[in-house]
Amino acid sequence: SGYTVAIVGRPNVGKSTFFNRMLEHRKAIVDDVSGVTRDRQYGMTDWNGKQFNVIDTGGFVSGSEDVFEREIAKQVKIAIDEANAVVFMVDVTTGITHLDEAMAELLRRATKPVYLVVNKVDNGQRELEAAEFYSMGFDHNFFISSISGSGTGELLDMITSAI
Ligand code: GDP
Ligand code: MG
Repeated sequence: SGYTVAIVGRPNVGKSTFFNRMLEHRKAIVDDVSGVTRDRQYGMTDWNGKQFNVIDTGGFVSGSEDVFEREIAKQVKIAIDEANAVVFMVDVTTGITHLDEAMAELLRRATKPVYLVVNKVDNGQRELEAAEFYSMGFDHNFFISSISGSGTGELLDMITSAI
């Protein structure tokens, strides 16, 4: 129980890197229920003195575009059902892709807060490029580097302000 944030996004945008970074300072209390949760990881973290659960809805089966679309719909459904808020992660190095658009379409219908998080914004040039993601039309946009940690504080402030 407790407040839960789900991280969704297509493969390779950096969901697990961000998830692991969030859990790092608490020494990663991650459930490892083998088999059952192969398609997602659960952890708990805290920020500003507030504890919350995090779900990394990672696993995609590689395959056709059809399989991808189905997996995406499933991932988004899990996120919306199980979480109080959703981190929708995208990747500045690829720009907006077809799969990002497909996920955005589903997430725009969510009645829970959705935070659009542009990851891999490692430098000033990428900050400029990241502006294209405003066109996706989400109310809350964050530009982060999961590797350096830049921008993650603002995102965590926003998440915890709702708890
Ligand atoms: P996932 O499939 O969404 O869970 O993505 P991963 O966390 O496995 O990351 C995919 C790749 O992106 C890995 O090679 C990461 O090292 C890299 N990556 C993740 N975050 C960043 C970032 O902030 N900057 C850069 N340059 N690479 C990143
Ligand atoms: Mg992953």
